[in-house]
Amino acid sequence: MIAEPGLRYLTLISGSVLAVALTSFSGCHEDDSDLVKQIQARSRRSVEATAPTPATYPDQWSGPMTLTVAPGVHVLGRLHPSAVYAIETQQGVILIDSGVDESGVDVRDGLAEVGLSTKKLRYILLTHAHYDHVFGANQLRQVSGAVVAAGRDDCDVLRRGDADALFSLFPRVSYSGTPIKVDQELLDGDEIQLGDVTVQVIGCPGHTPGSVCYLVEKDGQRILFSGDVIASLNFGPATYPVHISPRFRGDAVSYLATINRLLKMEPPDLLLTGHPRQQTRSQTIRMDEQIWNRLLEPAKMELMDAVNRQRQDGADFLDGVLKELEPSLYYLGDLDGIAIYCILDDQHLIVINAPGGNRFADFLSTQLKSLGLLPKTPTFVLLTSDQEACRSGLASLITAPQVVAPPSVWESLRASGVAVVSPQELSDKFTFPITTISLQETLCFSFSIRKKQVLVTSNVPRHISLEWTNRQNNRKTVSDLQPQSNALLTELAASSAVSQSYLESLQQLANFSPNVWLPLMPLTGQNANLYDDDWQTIIESNQRHAKKTVRSR
Ligand SMILES: [Zn+2]
Repeated sequence: MIAEPGLRYLTLISGSVLAVALTSFSGCHEDDSDLVKQIQARSRRSVEATAPTPATYPDQWSGPMTLTVAPGVHVLGRLHPSAVYAIETQQGVILIDSGVDESGVDVRDGLAEVGLSTKKLRYILLTHAHYDHVFGANQLRQVSGAVVAAGRDDCDVLRRGDADALFSLFPRVSYSGTPIKVDQELLDGDEIQLGDVTVQVIGCPGHTPGSVCYLVEKDGQRILFSGDVIASLNFGPATYPVHISPRFRGDAVSYLATINRLLKMEPPDLLLTGHPRQQTRSQTIRMDEQIWNRLLEPAKMELMDAVNRQRQDGADFLDGVLKELEPSLYYLGDLDGIAIYCILDDQHLIVINAPGGNRFADFLSTQLKSLGLLPKTPTFVLLTSDQEACRSGLASLITAPQVVAPPSVWESLRASGVAVVSPQELSDKFTFPITTISLQETLCFSFSIRKKQVLVTSNVPRHISLEWTNRQNNRKTVSDLQPQSNALLTELAASSAVSQSYLESLQQLANFSPNVWLPLMPLTGQNANLYDDDWQTIIESNQRHAKKTVRSR
């Protein structure tokens, strides 16, 4: 046990001792064990004996460390990456979130470390529908009879066990796919009363639509459980969902409104975030006006930027939902994972990529109609790749278009009656110049619309990482996306020629600085609009992967 009164007080009991005593979760045998009773009595004494002085999350949070951060308020150990909190009341225990582990064993063990039993659980209040915060809920509900509650707009995802929504872009841990039972749907302003504790529900959409914060009045302190609305004390709000496709349920406008609302409210006395272990240094959870503002203001700036950019440029996610990207430039959706784009002027329809075999022609006219455009036969088709999948739809067109394609497929295209034209001929006939870049067996196209540089590529580079900025030191971190980055590594590992030519293509593309990037395969419904050093980051993370495969040979 470690106790540092005045700085922080922790309750830390060896997990291995408990593991011997607690073998069955569902049976809740912990109350029957003398050993556990002793440990519980000891830890209870430790909590009571320690003064309710300021709490600080530790600087190093390794191993199964359970912390008591205020009298009767505990962060349970072992729960990586997210936190589960237990609040003691006169009539039982309230749990905030339920951890990543479907068996609930980690929560059970954490409760035991502070002298509590799962039998005492009365409420399991979920902050939002992301896997790392909710998976333990079913099992804990079953053994305790506790009421599981969540923000109304996240309940549907939980009840369907919607893995895509629950995992977002994160690597998938084991999940049985069992729907998560929710007994009570929560709305902004709702209150939950248990014994001497009142929990106020604050609707905080943005990270997910049904994200909520819980404001708890306990022993005269206002404690805010913020989930990922404020994910950690050094990172602040977890805004990444607003930068990825809306199918992952983030929303910049509502997140901005949430941050503005939090900034207007009186800061809580204590802030308990969703991911305290992400912190790299010791930080106080005690809030004052200054700390509170410092935590929220940078995120407000970032969200204002995101909202303005989306208003100005559109939210151009290449996620299967067709849209006008720029005047006369459209994204028509994907066929067999290959994106189809088109440029339309008074005379011509230029279509980029022709996948889908005999479904292509119908797909084209359906999508054009959905956009309110008159379906017409393409005058030109631009092929970015020599792969059969990229051109299999050509034969479905009633009138053969003129095709710009990589030289390696000219012969077979001509043999099937297709007119192959040079990039120069294309540029001469069209209203604005289109530059063609030849890269290995692929073609890229570059043109400008409304002063924006548009770059159409084949499958080099790929969207395989997300960039994060630590708002306190402005340092950037690039996280690889799984399985997208693994798939690239496997592909490049095929031969040194493959990775070498990939690197050469990247080298050539590094000279561009596109504002709009239209790839052959949008891997994660990525935003076509690029900002700041996005392109450079994309090129660099691809280079890093290619170099890895060259080195490992
Ligand atoms: Zn989350």
